[in-house]
Amino acid sequence: MKISDIGEFGLIDIIESRAGRSSYPVLIGIGDDASVLDVDPRDDVVTTTDMLVEGIHFLLDKTPPADLGFKSHAVNLSDIASMGAIPVQSFLSLGLPPGTEVSQVEEFIDGFLEAGPGVQLSGGDTVSSPSGWLISVTVIGKAPSGKVLRRDAARPGETIWLCGPVGDSAAGLALLSGQMSASDENQARFLVEKHNRPRPQMRMGRILLQSDISRCAIDVSDGLLQDLGHICRRSDVGADIAVEDVPLSPQLREFARFNGADPLRWALGGGEDYSLIFTVSPEREDLLRRILEQEGIGAVPVGRTSEERGIRLTQGGQPFKLPEHWGYNHFRKDPHP
Ligand code: ADP
Ligand code: MG
Repeated sequence: MKISDIGEFGLIDIIESRAGRSSYPVLIGIGDDASVLDVDPRDDVVTTTDMLVEGIHFLLDKTPPADLGFKSHAVNLSDIASMGAIPVQSFLSLGLPPGTEVSQVEEFIDGFLEAGPGVQLSGGDTVSSPSGWLISVTVIGKAPSGKVLRRDAARPGETIWLCGPVGDSAAGLALLSGQMSASDENQARFLVEKHNRPRPQMRMGRILLQSDISRCAIDVSDGLLQDLGHICRRSDVGADIAVEDVPLSPQLREFARFNGADPLRWALGGGEDYSLIFTVSPEREDLLRRILEQEGIGAVPVGRTSEERGIRLTQGGQPFKLPEHWGYNHFRKDPHP
């Protein structure tokens, strides 16, 4: 059955029944002219939105609809996590060609909901698209007033931490696009899953804010150096990074070895890992280490902020220069402010 057979309202009914009844603090969800949220006056409201266009951000024939739904929600949830906030409700606007199968949209919605358990899908818009899918997602979250983690809040002399490995998603993309191959099935499945179903660092973000451990964080959507560059530029600091401390998954190491490549190529420049970069002042380090151990969260220090602007990389204490053939020129401007 195609969506043209059931029409816009038939499709919205399907979405509404999958989203389930909204509950407090969402007072009104799907079905009215607008959604209504009860807001605690002690909280700040944190909002993020992202748009995905078929053919530019994803290829429908290479991505199962459930993964596409999962990822389109997850990337927004990651933005909420990097602010240290808690996601509350989401909005989903879809542009779909009339020939789209209803089952594809159902799978998409199920993946979308799976990415954000407890986040209420509260509305959106559904329109017809002349060619290809358009997906626009908005997530609204909350955080205690005045405490969100900001890109411009790093100070010189803080330790730079990374929560979650980097490079897996870019390696997964290299696999999917057929540029490289995996040495075994499990490795391929692992890397593709990292690309298609990124797991936002919700718990880490929340802990950083609630325990006053950090005031500055960003999620790795464009690549470690690129996103660290955003912190440096906004905070007016520089950074020294020891590349051997950057966490790499065993699967990425093996994939790189098999393809005769340096895993740092994906770890430093590859995007879409949705790991969390954050900075911590020396007096908060012990508390952070205690909490990481208690909670079983794998975050590691990878460098330090400094007054001297620019990002400097070292490997075993020696300067590490990015090889030209890694093709990083497009982002050089950012990490070297
Ligand atoms: P209006 O014409 O007032 O904008 P619509 O007919 O577009 O209302 O939508 C009806 C209800 O369905 C609204 O509550 C809207 O938020 C919701 N809705 C429409 N499309 C979607 C979607 N893709 N996902 C979730 N909710 C949706
Ligand atoms: Mg509408």
